[in-house]
Amino acid sequence: MPGLIPGLKEHGNMFYTLESAIELREKLRKFEKGRITIAMGVPHKCPVAPFEVIFMLDDYFNKKGIRDKVEIYYTYPIGRIHTLEPVAQWGVPEFERRGIKYETLFNMEKTEAHNGTIAVHSAEGFTVECDLLITIPPHRGTQAIIDSGISNESWVPTNRYSLKYEGYENVCVAGDTTNLPISKAGSTAHFESDVVADNLIAEIKEGHSARDYDGKVMCFIETGFDKGTYIHLTILRHQALYLILRRYIG
Ligand SMILES: Cc1cc2nc3c(=O)[nH]c(=O)nc-3n(C[C@H](O)[C@H](O)[C@H](O)COP(=O)(O)OP(=O)(O)OC[C@H]3O[C@@H](n4cnc5c(N)ncnc54)[C@H](O)[C@@H]3O)c2cc1C
Repeated sequence: MPGLIPGLKEHGNMFYTLESAIELREKLRKFEKGRITIAMGVPHKCPVAPFEVIFMLDDYFNKKGIRDKVEIYYTYPIGRIHTLEPVAQWGVPEFERRGIKYETLFNMEKTEAHNGTIAVHSAEGFTVECDLLITIPPHRGTQAIIDSGISNESWVPTNRYSLKYEGYENVCVAGDTTNLPISKAGSTAHFESDVVADNLIAEIKEGHSARDYDGKVMCFIETGFDKGTYIHLTILRHQALYLILRRYIG
């Protein structure tokens, strides 16, 4: 939802809809020199998307032979370059090896443009100027959650173990719509759905649920056009993530 940040719709480019991705592709084709800044809202869909876009930009401009004319500048809302500590630790030397500059504790507050230069202001009082702004927009749940009275936020209050709507034994919740402070990712929806399905079967057949959700998430990470890696987490690692993201979700 880029509309949540003043100026973002007008001055930012994203790849979260087909139309915006095509528009960004055209701008990148014409980009010959200058600074590209990546800034994001929280929470956002796919926690590894910021890294993926960085690594693909690096490869793209290397292949075009103009990487030395393009500065890639990454910003991130918390005090390290990724929410997940192991990912941040792995990322720092990767960024340095590829000459990617970064600014942490950067919560995008508003953007402006003057004479073709885009200024991205953070809530912390820092400003980054750039020639092209690529944003990962803040994600919110559907308005129907609020309108229906389920919650006064757009996320469904969810028990992190049973994946039941808080206070209701007969309503299961899975995917981005939960208020759980874990990755808004397809793999989260997938692993949560396994638990919901197992529990529904067990409740029908045996009268009680079969297992708790353990916070399992797995994401592949594109680290360039022809390279990749992955992260795999369960709830122990998510304890730290839970504390960090609690300020953003529910
Ligand atoms: C660019 C991008 C890259 C991504 N990359 C990855 C990745 O590499 N790995 C990964 O795991 N995840 C990735 N994700 C995240 C992943 O797509 C989501 O986390 C996942 O789709 C969530 O699934 P969901 O079923 O919970 O919600 P959704 O897929 O959002 O489905 C919700 C559905 O509900 C419908 N809906 C909403 N409101 C209403 C209403 N009032 N009435 C009826 N229907 C309604 C919507 O139209 C939608 O079809 C990416 C997302 C994006 C945008």
